[in-house]
Amino acid sequence: MAANVMQIYGTKVFNEYVMKERLPSATYKSLKDTLHKGTPLDLEVANVVASVMKRWAMELGATHYTHWFQPLTGITSEKHDSFLSPVGDGTAIMEFSGKELVRGEPDASSFPSGGLRATCEARGYTAWDPTSYAFVKDDVLCIPTAFVSYTGEALDKKTPLLRSMNALSAQACRILKLFGKDVAYVSTTVGPEQEYFLIKKEDYEARQDLILTGRTLFGAPSVKGQELEEHYFGVIRPKVSEFMKELDEELWKLGIPAKTKHNEVAPCQHELAPIFDTTNVAIDHNLLTMEMMKRLAPKYGLVCLQHEKPFEGVNGSGKHNNWSMSTTKENLLDPGDTPMENLQFLVFLAAVIKAVDEYADLLRTSVATPGNDHRLGANEAPPAIISIFVGEELEAVIDAIASDSPYAGPTKMKMDLGVDVLPKLSKDTTDRNRTSPFAFTGNKFEFRMPGSAENLSDANTILNTAVAKELKGYADELEQAEDFRAAVIALVKRTIRDHRRVIFNGNGYTAEWEAEAEKRGLPNKKYTPAALPALIDPKNIALMEQFGVLTRIEMESRYEVEMEHYAKIINIEAKTMLEIANKQLLPAINSYMGDLANTAATKLAVSESLSVRSETKILARLSKDADEMVDAIDALSAAERAAQALESSTDKAFAFHDKVLPAMEALRAVADDAEVVCGEDYWPLPSYSRMLYYV
Ligand code: ADP
Ligand code: MG
Repeated sequence: MAANVMQIYGTKVFNEYVMKERLPSATYKSLKDTLHKGTPLDLEVANVVASVMKRWAMELGATHYTHWFQPLTGITSEKHDSFLSPVGDGTAIMEFSGKELVRGEPDASSFPSGGLRATCEARGYTAWDPTSYAFVKDDVLCIPTAFVSYTGEALDKKTPLLRSMNALSAQACRILKLFGKDVAYVSTTVGPEQEYFLIKKEDYEARQDLILTGRTLFGAPSVKGQELEEHYFGVIRPKVSEFMKELDEELWKLGIPAKTKHNEVAPCQHELAPIFDTTNVAIDHNLLTMEMMKRLAPKYGLVCLQHEKPFEGVNGSGKHNNWSMSTTKENLLDPGDTPMENLQFLVFLAAVIKAVDEYADLLRTSVATPGNDHRLGANEAPPAIISIFVGEELEAVIDAIASDSPYAGPTKMKMDLGVDVLPKLSKDTTDRNRTSPFAFTGNKFEFRMPGSAENLSDANTILNTAVAKELKGYADELEQAEDFRAAVIALVKRTIRDHRRVIFNGNGYTAEWEAEAEKRGLPNKKYTPAALPALIDPKNIALMEQFGVLTRIEMESRYEVEMEHYAKIINIEAKTMLEIANKQLLPAINSYMGDLANTAATKLAVSESLSVRSETKILARLSKDADEMVDAIDALSAAERAAQALESSTDKAFAFHDKVLPAMEALRAVADDAEVVCGEDYWPLPSYSRMLYYV
């Protein structure tokens, strides 16, 4: 198997190894310049690359190609075109030109754009992102691309991400230069940990709520929940294990370094983490991983659920975004071993702390989705308040720096920056707090708020840009400094003093923290429509415009798209509930009540002395539930119609949150009460116990 892994790894990827082997050396050299230095690709080179790429893909069975991109909502999009080109004599050749490689023109009119692009000028194009390798999937050559309108606005999630990476690089290079390092590019790196559920396909197919919305909208709690805490790192079900093996293999073929896999906290919940990579590549890979999970599960009689909260009452799924900045030689968030390395580390650390504090509201928008609203603040995931965990040791260091007092860590010493070496931070003390939304874990930060279903591009775009902004401020200041070392120390101190409020090492799940955070003035936006207005806050628009990542118009359009998306999702959920309640649950309750009533009547006909207490008792409860259900149905229906009738997407989103969600909860509560007493043969939906505890 080990040898096999090496043989299959990357076999479906047009990577540098393949390029080097197959491309004429001059072409390879130009492409490499594009890859590593961002030099524009000229058409002649593109033509050669395209033809070699086509031949390579055809050898792997590809007949079509697609520009693979990330629309504003949803995960990825692709439109397949065949290589086929009729030659006029009834035969055809397989063609693929450089123009087709570098630029595609999907009909963009039905992708969400938030008013950016009137439908009549539905013209956008996709442009190859050569830093993310092309690959073959399902007989299709997939070319990772960015998607922009003809007037240059970003219509996707990748374009701003690439812009933000360049912005951060430019500023980080300036800082490194001051430390005497001439570096051409600083990349941001990401290692996403993907959580997901696997349930039986037959159960999934019996639940319209899972099919239409990805989560269960009804369902009484399982008699056994996750209280035994036996699932985390537990033995993996054989079927699941087989699935994971094939998943690993398919991912390896695509050059995705899938590394760890294990069971998670909730029953049926699992996690997969790859080895980290450059941000845009890591995100492309994460999206592919999600797709592959969904695609392979049915082969094993399973369905992969990636919604943040498929089941009420058991943990939901997140996607931890491990993040750092690196040159080809060093990880900039690694404290290092010498005073100078420590000082450099502290500058980058301070920039992240300042960025997260100043743009917490904007960062919060990147994880605001209707699905993730069920997690954040629900005592299973970080709260909606963004704070930074640095661990006790680093906190002691930071406090010592800020207050000019001796560092009182395990080894007492005065922190005279630039002379002393930071105490070694053990992974143990930096990785213990699982309740923190933004945790320093030794040599990287782990942003734990993103939901499992999300595309991590937004989170990283915002993080990169905010950090770029702080690095720029630092570079502007330090480049003017007469005494560099003194200036750096002053700057680190000032940052820590000004932004100390965002650092919190305690338990983020407690009510005390919520109160304390409020005192500190940290924002706490608990749900999506409340969080999204930060997208159009002038301070945040200014940030994005300053670095050319997004324009005001692009930000406004994203705000529109997200608000609309929220309303649409809740609307689908509400309507799905109504349909299930009307067409499946009420009829089931009535049918069971009919049988119970008949049994009682028959018993009484046989003998007046037979007790019908059990029938009567259950009938009374179900009859009450059924009455309450029809009322709840009417109330939900009215709330849904009223919300839907509103004009602005903002009003709509708030109405769906304030009015429709509570009506959904009310309907669910009565239905779940009925489920508990209704006969199993009558209840149409597979129960939580059955779905979560399959064998
Ligand atoms: P856990 O968070 O479960 O303890 P690890 O700390 O081993 O797991 O790593 C989680 C993820 O962080 C992995 O995907 C790993 O590749 C990634 N990671 C490690 N170093 C970096 C880095 N410098 N930049 C980004 N991600 C990283
Ligand atoms: Mg982790």
